[in-house]
Amino acid sequence: FLEITGLRKSYGDHEVLRGIDLSVEQHEVICLIGASGSGKSTLLRCINALETIDGGQVRLDGEVVSGPGVDVNLLRRDVGMVFQSYNLFPHMSVLDNVTLAPIRLGGLSREEARKRATALLERVGLADRAGAFPDRLSGGQQQRVAIVRTLAMEPRVLLLDEITAALDPELVAEVLGIVRQLAAEGMTMLLATHEMSFAREVADRVCFLHQGSLLEQGPPEQIFTEPVEERTRMFLKSII
Ligand code: ATP
Ligand code: MG
Repeated sequence: FLEITGLRKSYGDHEVLRGIDLSVEQHEVICLIGASGSGKSTLLRCINALETIDGGQVRLDGEVVSGPGVDVNLLRRDVGMVFQSYNLFPHMSVLDNVTLAPIRLGGLSREEARKRATALLERVGLADRAGAFPDRLSGGQQQRVAIVRTLAMEPRVLLLDEITAALDPELVAEVLGIVRQLAAEGMTMLLATHEMSFAREVADRVCFLHQGSLLEQGPPEQIFTEPVEERTRMFLKSII
């Protein structure tokens, strides 16, 4: 469904992604794990064309969606991304944050966008905050709005980059709850995370990145209990 082949990315002399091959099936939830600097964010950013790539290809449903000549607006309608820092527009209400892209890029009328936004906000328990500005919300609420904003474009794939990393521990659960819910509904997701217990619970497949290479992948039970690679073992040991 989402196919990444031979993906390479360098910053100057530093090769950050060294030929990543990764196939994501529809409805699959994949967690990317690996040490800081291993390339998780860069991989997600390359898939979403937030970075140019130096080699390889990304295909969605058989169609090439990487490289020059790709319509990034179309790509990002299909492939939504949520970041660690929620990046909400501070001068807009929650509702306006969520309806902006569907109106501007999705061709929805104001009324349609509003309906869709309200339904989504209800799902994440924030319908009553539609008129609030982001600085009136907790971090967990802001991140839930950021997820809803991305969902409002009805993406086919969701890329989530450490979406709980900036949150106080007591707010993490409410955001993970939404990811769990999306997984249950069959949303295709690729998420970079340091939350190993969550990865273990929600992932269909866990991919371990090491210095820009996808060193090992497998079902969570296998990766977390009997990894094949010594590097994976060392990484998992270092974080508990
Ligand atoms: P973390 O767990 O800390 O989020 P990560 O696995 O997401 O780490 P990346 O952010 O993808 O790692 O970074 C991979 C490597 O690329 C790092 O060595 C980083 O310093 C480098 N890098 C990332 N962005 C840039 C940039 N814009 N310019 C130069 N180097 C960069
Ligand atoms: Mg990162």
